[in-house]
Amino acid sequence: MIKKILFLILIPIFCCSQNIDEIFSNRGEVYFSFEYENKSQLNHISDIISIDHKTNSELAFAYANKKEFEKFLKLNINYNIIEKKVLNFKNGNKSSWNYYPTYQQYVNMMTAFSDSFPDICKLHHLGTLNSGREILIVQISNNVGKKENEPSFLYTSSMHGDELAGYILSLRLIDYILNGYGNNARLTSLVNNIDIWINPLANPDGAYYGGNQNVWSAVRYNANWVDLNRNYPDPEDGPHPDGNPYQEETNIFLGLTDSINFNMAANMHGGVEVCNYPWDTWSNLTADHVWWQYVSTEYADSCQANSGSGYFDYLNDGVTNGWDWYEVDGGRQDYMNYFKYCREFTLELSNDKIPDPNDLPDLWDANYPSLLNYMEQSLFGLRGIVTDSITSNPLIAKVEVNWHDTDSSHVYSNLPIGNYHRYLYQGNYEVTFSKSGYHSKKINVSVLNNATTIEDIQLVPLNYVGVENKNTTQQKSIHSVDIIGREIHPRNNKILFNIFENEKIDKRIIIE
Ligand SMILES: [Zn+2]
Repeated sequence: MIKKILFLILIPIFCCSQNIDEIFSNRGEVYFSFEYENKSQLNHISDIISIDHKTNSELAFAYANKKEFEKFLKLNINYNIIEKKVLNFKNGNKSSWNYYPTYQQYVNMMTAFSDSFPDICKLHHLGTLNSGREILIVQISNNVGKKENEPSFLYTSSMHGDELAGYILSLRLIDYILNGYGNNARLTSLVNNIDIWINPLANPDGAYYGGNQNVWSAVRYNANWVDLNRNYPDPEDGPHPDGNPYQEETNIFLGLTDSINFNMAANMHGGVEVCNYPWDTWSNLTADHVWWQYVSTEYADSCQANSGSGYFDYLNDGVTNGWDWYEVDGGRQDYMNYFKYCREFTLELSNDKIPDPNDLPDLWDANYPSLLNYMEQSLFGLRGIVTDSITSNPLIAKVEVNWHDTDSSHVYSNLPIGNYHRYLYQGNYEVTFSKSGYHSKKINVSVLNNATTIEDIQLVPLNYVGVENKNTTQQKSIHSVDIIGREIHPRNNKILFNIFENEKIDKRIIIE
């Protein structure tokens, strides 16, 4: 009997240590499935490896690099390695949007957007990776480069390099918005009223792992075999929840989100078809759980209405709370919500991580109305401008919904305009505006869904003696640094200062 137990314990370890080099001989990540006993076991395992979106109530799917896989093997759980399918797709062409561009075509396309529409579109080179590939983002606005009283909105896709539906949908969305400006009333209104940012490819090294000519060999992780969606500061687990240094891609995004105060965002992935709203890291519900369900259901319903049956209906009819599904630590969604006061959710756009190019037009038809609806939500809720009652200077003030806010769900007004945007499900709320050195102000507001409540607020300085306070500028800068949270998560300033090096402005606060 003892012999038998020893055999059971030793053999798997022996087998696996024999095979592990072989498993990782071609690429630095492995994809596999395993059965799990309960949610708590899965949450424990998710600290070790990267649980994949395809995970369901019976079977978990996961990725691991060599180090992670070695830790997983110590758990002695049976697993099945899933061999990577060799994709044999016929690529279409750009005019039909049934194709994946080469890396160079992608760069050319992003450049052409800003070259062709210079009044409303600007390409930003956020950073160049060691591979030489770039993280690119376009900004679309009627006064591109000029900060206005508008929400800043972000779409970003494919931080998992092999989840590529959103890559093409993002490119097509840019093209659609730019060409629709001045021709289509809704698109024109979006561009006139929102500061729109779209980054189609957050992990170019993963997407073009097999070379710049195609994405058929795309991988999930980056060039260092790190899962970028486990690499962010985490509300519960703090900095470096995955034990890795912040990757180049992560640092670039940390810098971007320190520079632009995004109010709403979505992070596009693939593998299933569902909206995943916060939190991922813990079971707490957000203060705005009902609002999240409302905008997520709006997204899913519109997808279903604009597609054949069976699309975007995973889990609860296309909507899930992140933690309810499976725990993620170090995800970007939670980082954006908790540390950047930005409402970001995760869009899982397609069951096939790399859809057949011929399916891309249908995915576009199903999703673009939802993508526009979600963007439009950034205009609604409670908004306004906070200023100093004496000088009329715009202020960075805390906007807190009393008896409601929790887990960092409050927001701040931002410079240089002083505008704030607080998204709320319809109802009556009591809101406090505060800033050190000023008397707080409490107001009651009514908010309706799909409507805007505007409340401009003047805060009175505590020490007002009838002359303008010469320290105002100094105070602003001190507080802006506090708000972006660097004391909590110190990091490499180099990236931050390199991001918009061609633009002669204070990069930490706002980009012109
Ligand atoms: Zn993903």
